[in-house]
Amino acid sequence: MYLRILRNYLYRNRGKVYAQEPERFLDMKTLLLFTCDLEFSPEVQHKRFSNDRRLTKGCRILTDILTKYEINSTLFTQGKLCIRYPEIVEEFYRKGHEIGSHGFDHIPMTYFWPTSFLPRISPVFRRRVDIRKSKEAIYSITKREPISFRSPYLAVDEKTLMILETEGFLLDSSLYNPAFGRISYPYHPSKDDIASKGEMKILEVPLTVSVVPQRAIIYTRYPSIFGLDERQIEKTILVLRDLFGKLKYNFALFVTVIHPYELCSSIVVSRVTAFLEAMKRIGAQSLTFHQLMGEYERLEHH
Ligand SMILES: [Zn+2]
Repeated sequence: MYLRILRNYLYRNRGKVYAQEPERFLDMKTLLLFTCDLEFSPEVQHKRFSNDRRLTKGCRILTDILTKYEINSTLFTQGKLCIRYPEIVEEFYRKGHEIGSHGFDHIPMTYFWPTSFLPRISPVFRRRVDIRKSKEAIYSITKREPISFRSPYLAVDEKTLMILETEGFLLDSSLYNPAFGRISYPYHPSKDDIASKGEMKILEVPLTVSVVPQRAIIYTRYPSIFGLDERQIEKTILVLRDLFGKLKYNFALFVTVIHPYELCSSIVVSRVTAFLEAMKRIGAQSLTFHQLMGEYERLEHH
C-alpha cells in the first residue's frame, strides 16, 4: 500500500519533470544583421577584369530579397570590385545599405592561411596596404570611410584588429564561434587574444553558425546557417534565441553572411527565404552594423 503511494508519487513527480515545457523566450528582443560579402565569384577572383555573370545575377536576386523583406544590410565589399563594378556598390549604398570593407585583393588577414586553393601568406605591412586601398576604393563611391570590416576567409588575428583600429574602423565581424567557444554576441576583444574580452575599442561582432560542421576538402568551412535545410534553419533559430534568453543576454543576435554568386542556386535562395520568413515571424529587427553600434551601447549600458 505505502509502496504503491510512494511509487505513484515518484511517478507523478518524474512525469512533471519530464513533461516540463522547455522555457521559451518569446518576447526576447531579436536583432538581425543580414550581411553579404560583396566579392567576385571564385572563378573570376584571381583573373583580371573578365565579366562576372554570377556576381551580377546574384546581386539582382539579393536586391529583390532585401527589398521584399525590408532588410537593412551591410555589404562587406571587396575594394577591387568597387573599381570594376562601381554601379553595383553605388546602388546598394543609395538604397540605404551600409558599405563595409572586405579588403581590396581578398587576401587573408593572418600571417598564414590554408585557403581552398593554396596556403597564403600575408605579412602585416601587406595587410595594412590592402586595407588602406580598400578604404580608398569605397570612399571613391560613398564619399565616406567604411567603419565595419570583415576579413577574407574569416582569417583575422590580433595584429589585424590593431591595424583596423588605427585605420578608423569601429566594428569587425570575422570571428565565428567554433573559433572562440562562445555564443555570437558583440564584445570588445583583448589585444593579447582576440577571442577573449579586453580593452580594445573595436567591437567584434562574431558570425552566427549552424551547429553542424561542414567540411570542405582541405579546411573546415565556416559552418553557414544557409548550409542547413529549411527545417534545420527554423530549429536553429528557436534554439539559439532560447539560449540567448537562458544566458540572460539583453538581446538575441543573428549575424548571417551570403555571397552574391551563392544566390544563383535556387536551393540557397529558398533557404535564405525560409530564414527571413522565420525572422519575420519572431519580429526580428534588421540593422546595419553602424545601427547595431548605437543599439548595443543603448542596451548594454542602460
Ligand atoms: Zn570573401
